[in-house]
Amino acid sequence: MLLRANTVLPICAPALPYGAVRVVDGRIAAVAGAAGLAPLPGEEVLDLGETVLLPGLINAHCHLDYSTLRHAVAPQSSFTEWVQRLNSIKRQLSPEDILDAIGRGYAEAQQFGTTTVCSMAAFPDLLPRLGSAPLRTWWFYEMIDIRHRLTSEELVAGALSFFNQNADPLVRYGLNPHAPYTASLLLYRLAQACAGESGMVLTTHVAESQEEDEMFTHARGPLYDFLSGLGRPMHDCGHDTPFGWLWRNCAIRGQWLLAHLNVLAESDFALLAALPPEQLPSVVHCPGSHRYFGHPVFPFERLAALGVNLCVGTDSLASTDSLSLLGEVRRMQESHPDLQPEALLQMLTLAPARALGQEGRLGCISPGALADLIALPFCGPPEAAAAACIAHSGRVPWMMLGGKIVGSPPL
Ligand SMILES: [Zn+2]
Repeated sequence: MLLRANTVLPICAPALPYGAVRVVDGRIAAVAGAAGLAPLPGEEVLDLGETVLLPGLINAHCHLDYSTLRHAVAPQSSFTEWVQRLNSIKRQLSPEDILDAIGRGYAEAQQFGTTTVCSMAAFPDLLPRLGSAPLRTWWFYEMIDIRHRLTSEELVAGALSFFNQNADPLVRYGLNPHAPYTASLLLYRLAQACAGESGMVLTTHVAESQEEDEMFTHARGPLYDFLSGLGRPMHDCGHDTPFGWLWRNCAIRGQWLLAHLNVLAESDFALLAALPPEQLPSVVHCPGSHRYFGHPVFPFERLAALGVNLCVGTDSLASTDSLSLLGEVRRMQESHPDLQPEALLQMLTLAPARALGQEGRLGCISPGALADLIALPFCGPPEAAAAACIAHSGRVPWMMLGGKIVGSPPL
C-alpha cells in the first residue's frame, strides 16, 4: 500500500512535502517526498489529503488499570495521603472493574493517537482475560514486597512463568519494581538479573515526591511514618537520596526507564554526570500528574544537558485528566516555553522507542520500521507541521497499527 499525505513527518528526518510512504507486510518499505515514490503496478494507493502523517505516539508511562479513576481522588495535601486514598479505592475494585478500566484506557489512548503504551500491571493475574491487545503494549509487571506474603524470589519466579505464556504479537513484557519505598533492594537486584537474562526492559518510580526524598534522605516525614507503621524495614533510610540509594546499590543504568525524577539533589546530578550518555537510564516525565501533585519543577534542562533520553507519559487517570500525550506535551510547553515542537514530538516517538530498545522499529518513519502511523489534519508548509501536531487537540482521526488501518475510516 502507498500512503500519500500533504506532509510526511518521519521524526528521524526533516518533514517531506507531498510525501509518500510504502507499507509492505506491516512495515515501512520506503518513504519519499514529492514525486519520489510512484505506485507499483497493482499497488493500492491511499491519499490522506490535507494531513500530516507521522509515527504513532508512544506513552512511556501509564497505569491502564486505573482508567476509571479520573477525578476519583481529589488532590491531597500530601503524596502519602494520595497513596493511602488510592489504596483504599483499589481494594474496592473487582476484577471486572479492573478489566473495564483497562479497556477504557486503551480506547482513550487510541483516540488520542497512541499506538504503543507502556502500562504498569498492578493486577497481572487478570491479563490473560483481556483478549488481544488493541494497541502495542509493554506490560510492566508491578512488584512490591514490603508487605508481601511471597518472598522476593517467588515474586520474580511467578512473573517470569507468567510472561512465558504470552502469544500476542502486540504484547511485550517488562519488570516494574514499584519504587524504592515499596520494593526491597533484593527485589530490585533479582528483577535486574532476570531482565538481563531475558532482555526485558525495567522501569521504576523514583524521586517522585518531596516526601519520598524526605523519607530516604532524612528518615522522617509522612511517607516514612506511614510505611514504618506498616512494618516496612526502614534501615535503608537516612543514608542517601532515593535516586542515590538505588544508583549505588542496584546499578540503575541504561536498561532502566525511570519514572519521574522530580526531586534530585546535586549529588544525584553528579552521579549522572559521571557516566557517558549512552550508559544513562532513560527518564519519563508525566506533566499532568506532576502538576496535580505540585511537585518541584522537573529538571528538564539539566537532565537534557547531561544527555539523558527524556520521554513523556501520562501516568494514570487517578492523577491526570486525560490520556492525551499531545495534551501532556502542551503542558510541558507551558512550563518549559523554550522547548521546540520537534523536541516535544521526539519525546513521544524516538525517545521512548530508544528506551524500549526499539530504535529503528518504532517511533520513526523509515524503511524497516513497523507501520504504526497516525495522520492529523494539516495543510501548511512542512516547517509548520510539528507545531501543528503539538497544537492538535481532540481525537486523532486516522491510525494504522502494524500496517492495518484501525479505528476510524480514512479522512
Ligand atoms: Zn506511575
